[in-house]
Parts: sequence; structure tokens; C-alpha cells
Amino acid sequence: MAPKHRAATKKPAAKKPAAKKPAAKKPAAKKPTRSTPAAKRPAAKRPIDTQPAAKQSLAGSARRKSTRSVSVPKPGTVPASAGPSPYDIPYTGAPLGAHVSTAGGVATAPPRGVDIGATAIQLFTKQANQWKERLFDDAEVAAFRAALAATPVAFTNAHDSYLINLASPNAELRARSIESFECEMRRSNALGLDAVVSHPGNFMDDRASGMARNADAITEVLERVAGPTRLLMELTAGQGTVIGSTFEEMAALLALLPSGLQARVGVCLDTAHVFAAGYDLVRDFDGVLARFGDVLGFHRLGLLHLNDSKAPLGSRKDRHELIGAGCMGDGPFRRIMTDPRLLAIPKSLETPKGDGMVSNDRAMLRKLRGYARG
Ligand SMILES: [Zn+2]
Ligand SMILES: [Zn+2]
Repeated sequence: MAPKHRAATKKPAAKKPAAKKPAAKKPAAKKPTRSTPAAKRPAAKRPIDTQPAAKQSLAGSARRKSTRSVSVPKPGTVPASAGPSPYDIPYTGAPLGAHVSTAGGVATAPPRGVDIGATAIQLFTKQANQWKERLFDDAEVAAFRAALAATPVAFTNAHDSYLINLASPNAELRARSIESFECEMRRSNALGLDAVVSHPGNFMDDRASGMARNADAITEVLERVAGPTRLLMELTAGQGTVIGSTFEEMAALLALLPSGLQARVGVCLDTAHVFAAGYDLVRDFDGVLARFGDVLGFHRLGLLHLNDSKAPLGSRKDRHELIGAGCMGDGPFRRIMTDPRLLAIPKSLETPKGDGMVSNDRAMLRKLRGYARG
């Protein structure tokens, strides 16, 4: 429920043990303004923080295929053409929002959440497509917390870098992944985020060994990094050798973690991923949810990623689409917004942003709030 999550974000941050590590220098490049959209400026002048929107978003195919440069508007600069705010539609459910950009600094994320009418936000705490690590300094943490406190955003989570593969048999890549994952947990705990969403890795050689490596790495990092932030392992679409595309395998992975860590770990259910993995949320919504409850249990469900799927049922392809515009249609999302088992679970979109970065999310969140009203 909202008050619970709000309370969670207010918890004092765990001390940053690695605060001595110098933060990476901020690029001195000019910040984008409305009058000079990123698309029109020479690429060299774009701050590193201001990645093209397509790269900032986790919107399935968009992140892999699009090389289009899309400007990321400053928070608070919502044009009238972006449509009305979702806040206009009464909604009393669990926090509901979307992935937002941190272009210009992590403290810009909460006001960007307000721009789209969100009460939950997901963000990257670093460049998700690069290995380079940094920790936040005290001023950045304070700025983020102050910005968050000024908004109705009641659930916050990071999504970790998709370069990370904690299950890799390659010792060098796995060590790098562990370091990156540890930094992610430290940054997120420092900000006081409710959760970090992480994908199980690719086993590459054999599945059982990969799962053991994955669980060992999670254990190692959680034992080193304490704090309020919960780890949510995301169910995957099942492409290649990725772990965690069935409820059973995710349960088996979590069962490998020591009992002392169980309360700090949960699951993120991405609707597009599970649909692509073969769970038919369209024709058997109740069956899929019942199976989730039996195998994993709703107490483990920490977040729902609400995405329609461009890829068909069982395709094992991770391709996000706007709600109601993909192979799933609006049916499952209407059910999700009214199902009593999911009422208290925070929900975030990772659907294509569109050029304006605001209007699509506004429209999607208005739609979902409408579904919640039945
Ligand atoms: Zn994900
Ligand atoms: Zn997702």
C-alpha cells in the first residue's frame, strides 16, 4: 500500500561504506534545453548523462535497435500537446508509474515522475549500457531525497545494468558483474530506493552451474551491502541461455540463497516477459496467477512491470509494446488493475516513450487508472 512504501523510502540510508571512492567527474558539456533539442545539437556536446531516450528506456526492442536521437526534456517542461495528467483520474491503488530518465542528474527523476503523472518510478542509477561505475556524493543523495519528498511518488526502484551476468562461467566477466552489481546495490541503498530489479544471468555452459554461480554472486553482494533496498529478480522471456523464465526455475534460484537473506529478495513480474516465455495471460489469466501463487507466492512479488508484447506467446523474445497495442491487448491489464491479489503491488511501465518522452506515459497511466476504476 502507498503509506507502507512511502514509509520505506523515508528510512534512513545505510551508511555508504565506499563513500571514499571518488565519484566520476561530471561531464562539462552543456545541458539540453527546450530550445536546443538533443536531436539538433552535435552529438559531442551531449552530456554523457543525457543518453538518447531510446537507450535510457528499457523498452524492449527500442533499446537494442533504435539509434535515433531523442531529446529528453527537462523536468517540468510538459507541453500542452502531452495531454492531461493521469493525476486527474482518482486512483487509490498501489504506486503506479514508469521508468523515467535521469538525464541531468538522479534528482531529476522524481519530478520527471510527476510530469508523467506517476506515483512509482524506475530509474537507472548509472549508464546502463556501460561498465563505468560511480557512487553518489552526499549532495546528490540529499538532492534526490528532497526532490522525491516533494512529489507523490511513493515507490522507487532502480533497474541494474543489462551488461551484468552474475551467472557467467567466464571468471573475468563474472567478477566485473559482481562489482557492478555491488555498486548498484550501494547506490540504490544510499538513495533509499525501495528495490533494485535485476535479471538472472545467462548460464552459457550448463544451467545448474549457472544458477549456482548466480545465487553465489547475489549472496556475496547482499552479505556485503546492507540497507533498506530489496532485490527483485525479474522473470525473463527465456531467450538463449537466460535463467529465470519459468516460475519453477526462479523459485529454484531463490531457494539457493541462504535463509537469512530471503526477506531481502523478491520477484519482479514483467508481463511481456512472462507472456513471451509462454504464460498465457490473455486466455488463462487466472491459471497463470494461480501458478505464480503456488510456485513463488504473492509475498515474493515486489513489483509488476506492465508491458504489452510485440512478440507472440511463447516466442521467448523480449519486445515491449504500448499497453493494448501488442499481442496481449488490453484484457490482461484490465485484470491486473482490478485483481485483489495484485492490488498492493507497485506497478511500472517500460513501454516505448515516443519522441516527447511524456505523452505516451501519460496516456498509458491514464488508461491504467481507468482500468482500475473498472
Ligand atoms: Zn528488466
Ligand atoms: Zn521489465
